[in-house]
Amino acid sequence: MERGPEQAQSEVAELLGELIRIDTTNTGDTSTSAGERAAAEWVAGKLDEVGIGSQILESERGRASLVARIPGTDGSRPPLLVHGHLDVVPADPAEWSVHPFSGEERDGYVWGRGAVDMKDMDAMVLALVRDWARTGVRPPRDIVLAFVADEEAGGKLGARWLVDEHPDLFADCTEAISEVGGFSITVRDDLRLYLVQTAEKGLAWMRLTAGGKPGHGSFVHDDNAVIRLCQAVARLGSTRLPTVLTPPMRQFLAAVEDAYGIEIDPDQPEEALARLGSISRMIGAALRNTANPTMLDAGYKTNVIPGTASATVDGRFLHGQEEEFERQLAGLIGEGIQREWIVHDQAVETTFDGPLVDLMVSALKAEDDGARPVPFTMSGGTDAKSFERLGMRCFGFSPLRLPADLDFASLFHGIDERVPVESLRFGVRVLDRFLRGA
Ligand SMILES: [Zn+2]
Repeated sequence: MERGPEQAQSEVAELLGELIRIDTTNTGDTSTSAGERAAAEWVAGKLDEVGIGSQILESERGRASLVARIPGTDGSRPPLLVHGHLDVVPADPAEWSVHPFSGEERDGYVWGRGAVDMKDMDAMVLALVRDWARTGVRPPRDIVLAFVADEEAGGKLGARWLVDEHPDLFADCTEAISEVGGFSITVRDDLRLYLVQTAEKGLAWMRLTAGGKPGHGSFVHDDNAVIRLCQAVARLGSTRLPTVLTPPMRQFLAAVEDAYGIEIDPDQPEEALARLGSISRMIGAALRNTANPTMLDAGYKTNVIPGTASATVDGRFLHGQEEEFERQLAGLIGEGIQREWIVHDQAVETTFDGPLVDLMVSALKAEDDGARPVPFTMSGGTDAKSFERLGMRCFGFSPLRLPADLDFASLFHGIDERVPVESLRFGVRVLDRFLRGA
């Protein structure tokens, strides 16, 4: 332990700081999003310094992704994709302890937007392949590297565009690793669960529109679109859909039971999961379909009853639950309301087994003898949804051993996003073992 690739470990924090300083805020709108081109060029430069060629591809002006290939020693085996997004969500400097785009290293952490989502992984991978190139290490399989744009707005101008327009770049890749997973939850000093993502819920963002009779706000009125909409929204938002245990979550709950010596009631898992800390809110959402109302829009004047009212709802369904979710929605929304999808994307799920998973497990255990890797389902979505379309098994595996008291889940898109320097170095060592064996 604690050796591993020297140069990669010594430069990973600095690389992350530099990458954070390139503001790649994705507003969801190309005219106000900047920085992805500069970030891709920066990555290209860092690869070029050690003799690794790459290509930058743009879906729209400035919306740049970079793809490179590290040739392996065994050409008979399929390549492995390692992908990370370069964009970040917005950050308001007024809310932060440090400037979100300072990339400052302070108190043993690298601070800034993207520190955990996911410039940390970008920097770890970059540091590692630079170290390999300098020291002549070659992995067994070809490794395809993709540093992509636009993940934070669904990947339409990044991963999804690459998959649709340039699938040849990923030809024959059978597996992929990226966010969100590989991080630790401390059970006790000698036991840490490492959550490896093997599944993601599907997206069903929808707009609901209710119609009614417009009229004067002072009259008696029995057909009000605002009321009809609000009733449907209230039903959706206040109904907890039934628990469904998918294979990864069955394994996850069994591991939690074993680690903590408790029994979890599958119908009421929340109480037991609370001991996992804030991550339990994400885990809880992976035990059922969800539909959270997020926006409302109706009317234009206090004394005018509008003819329509609309709402948007963030719906998420588990793998294998798409049709059941539609039935649940129909039942809750009720009559007289139109539903249209704003974004609809598939759930993904793979199994926690096979040689690649064995390698994740052994690499984590070699660097942390208290490591117990477990699969889990992510409540949100990532670029895995795009790469899975090319037939890859996708894993969230960005290894980080975290301090027991760090509220990791709240750092994603959160204020004072930061990552421990020691965790980055750990990640580099685990990735080194993993990718050398893969
Ligand atoms: Zn991310």
